[in-house]
This record gives sequence, C-alpha cells and structure tokens, in this order.
Amino acid sequence: MGNAILPNNTARHGRKTRLAGRLLAATAGAIGLFATLPALAETLVVKNFTLIDGRGGAATPNSAMVVEDGRIVWVGPSAQAPVDAAAIDLTGKFVIPGLIDTHIHMGNVHDLTQDERFYTTENVEADLRTYASYGFTTVAVMGTDKDSVFAVRNAERAGRPTMTRLFTAGQGIVFRGGYGGVPGINRPVANAREAAIEVDAQAAKGADYIKFWLDDELATMPKMPPEISQAVIDAAHRNGLKVFAHIFYLEDAKRLAAQGVDGFVHSVRDKPVDKELTDAMKEKGIVQVAATLSREAAMFAYGKPAPQLDDPFFKQSLSPEALRLLASPERQKSVASAPAFPRLPGFFDTAMANLKREAAAGVHYGVGTDSGPPGRVAGYSGHWEMELMVKDGFTPGQAIQAATGYGAEILGAKDLGTIERAKWADFVVLDADPLKDIRNTRKINSVYIAGRKVRSVAQ
Ligand SMILES: [Zn+2]
Repeated sequence: MGNAILPNNTARHGRKTRLAGRLLAATAGAIGLFATLPALAETLVVKNFTLIDGRGGAATPNSAMVVEDGRIVWVGPSAQAPVDAAAIDLTGKFVIPGLIDTHIHMGNVHDLTQDERFYTTENVEADLRTYASYGFTTVAVMGTDKDSVFAVRNAERAGRPTMTRLFTAGQGIVFRGGYGGVPGINRPVANAREAAIEVDAQAAKGADYIKFWLDDELATMPKMPPEISQAVIDAAHRNGLKVFAHIFYLEDAKRLAAQGVDGFVHSVRDKPVDKELTDAMKEKGIVQVAATLSREAAMFAYGKPAPQLDDPFFKQSLSPEALRLLASPERQKSVASAPAFPRLPGFFDTAMANLKREAAAGVHYGVGTDSGPPGRVAGYSGHWEMELMVKDGFTPGQAIQAATGYGAEILGAKDLGTIERAKWADFVVLDADPLKDIRNTRKINSVYIAGRKVRSVAQ
C-alpha cells in the first residue's frame, strides 16, 4: 500500500511532511478514524510490544500505537495497525503509561541542603528532567513552589513538554509557628481570615489544588486549629479547587473528613485506620492521594549504610556530594541519634498497614512519595514506593494502576494516565515484564512525553 513510501524517519525524528499527512488522512479516511486529522502531522508508530494500559486489566501482547502530534490516535493489535510504515519495532518490550507521582517537592534542594534560594526555574527544570528520566512523566508538587512555577507549568500546557508535566498547589497553607512548608516560600497564617485570603491568592495565580499542613511534629509544634482547616477547605471549594492535607494522626484525619477535605497526602501513622475513617472516605470520595511509604522508609534508611547507596539506579540522579554525605558514618550517626529515630520504623509499619486497610475498604489511592527534600530521591522514590506496595500485598498490576490511571484521576488529568485513544502519548518502554516483578519498572528502555522521546540521565 501507499504507506510503504512514508518517509522512513518521519516517526523517529518527528519531521512534519505534507506527504505523511496526506497518506495518513487517506488511510484514516478509509477506516473512519482520522476524519479531523490536520494535513500536517507528526506521526509516531510503535508496535509489537506488550501493553499494560493503566486501567488495571490484563496485559495485551502484540500491541501497536499510532501517535499524531503527541496524542494517541489509535491503539490495538499490531496486525491491525492503520499505519505501519516507519513503525518502531518494540518486540520483547513492555509499554506502561507515563508514571505519576502524586506528592513531590522540587527546586529547593542542592546536594542535601534545602533552602528557598535554590528555587530557580533552572533547578525546577533539572528536577523535572530527572523525574522524566525515571519514567515519572507527571508530578504533583505539594505546596512548596515559588510563583515562577506557573510560567513553567503554563508553557508545558500550551504545547508538548519535553520534561515531566507538573501540577502545583503554589504555596501550601501553614499555621503560623506550626509544621510544614519551606521558610521563605510559604506565608504562615494565624487565623481563619488570613487562611481564606491565602487560599484565594493561590487560586488567583492558577493553583491546580490547595495543600495544607495539619501536624504538630510529634507534639513539638502547635497544630493548625480546626477553624483554620475549615476555612482552608471552604475557601478551596469556593474557588472550585480540591484541597489535600498533610496529616499524621487518625483523629485529625477524621475531623478533616468531616470538614470536607478531598484527600490525604500521607498515611495516618499514629494508629490503625478504622472503619469510621474508611467509611467516611468511601462515602465522600476522599482519596489517599499519597501513602508516602518510601518517605517513611527513607526517614530511617540512612541511619546506617543503606543498600541503595550502591545501586546505579539510585545513584544516577544524585550529586557526588549528596552520595558522599549519605554514605558518611558521621551523618548516619547523626540521623540515628535523632530523638524520634526509634519510633520511625513503627510509623512506616503503620503506614503500610493503613494503605492496605484503605484499599481493602475500597478507598482510592495514588502513588506519591514526598520526594524532593534531602535524601528523598527524585524518581527513584516512585519505583521504591511501588516495590513497597507489592511487599504490602498489592499486585504489581495494582501498583502500576495506582501510579498511572488512578494518579491521573486524583489530579483530574483526563488526558493522562492511561494508554487510550485521544490521551497524550506519555509512556515508558520497559525491557522486562513489570507484572512479573515490580522491580522491572526500573528496566527503562525509553521514556516518551507527548509522543517524543525524552532524554535520560543515563544517556
Ligand atoms: Zn510533602
């Protein structure tokens, strides 16, 4: 057929050619798929891979996908692909949707030091490229961005980003004198009126959702009072935004559920969640945005020589100085001598048990890591999070669905998260089957965002 004369490198190099557009339109017209296709289109065809589409069903061998101008226009069996010329042959490979980390921080860390002065567009974009190199093609930042984030995000949404897509809360809401945020970025609030003003300010800038912290850092700091959390929730909803909370205690989670919160960005870590909370979450559609299991594990992992310090997949995104510090016996000793250190493994165990309980009760959950702060490694953490979920009793398929389809649902990102027609072609090509071993999500062959291969730090 005419497809055979499609220029060979159209797909790989994304060149727009009139010929390609005409051929596609002709082919498409014949099968009624591409009626509205523009005459000039950039085409990518990949075939012969096993598809794990992010919707939780069985994997589909011998799959193919046709991408036009960054969006999926066709997905199905390779033998039925409407366009075959210049297809990239992915025989033996596995394709999953681009992964979504629903709880990160970015831009504020250099080596192992966090400081708002590091927050530049350059540092933000470096972090977004790191996430992309690990297959995390979408991240949700939880309340520690400077206003410059909106220009980065808006530019991404205006076209086809070449780095990880970001969702942002702008500056999250912190109680004055209380826990949370980054000094110099977040403006703490003292009362309900100030809280509402601060929420309105984030909404006016274009925040994707509102984030607030409600915690007393193990009874060492004052906790945001209920009238302020209510004001934050009400103001978010008045602005048409979802509102997600940092919590630690079961009782706080219950009160916030009653106050109308939309999701929690950490697990309850002081006690087992009970039926009262899971019932409330189910009834009101409150989601476990992030369980941050890898965060709880990272809190005590570096109190001794951690095995991942020798793992190239871990090391590839860290500076030599950060690695040196994590491996230094002095730092390990200082981590292990923190007053709360002996309690940290217990918080991790409680988080693991609670995610399991919530899932069993039918609560929805994403994969979120709280990565970004010192020692909580961008990109790597998400793969660790999925591994911990499987150790927790989830199937690899459930962990992948949480990190893709569910993550997109939580963010209200209708054109992300699954490999389906009309969605953005954000996907990860793996060299081994992640449904057999969740650690195979680390065997990354290539990463695509909006139909274009993005650079990997390993390259
Ligand atoms: Zn966080």
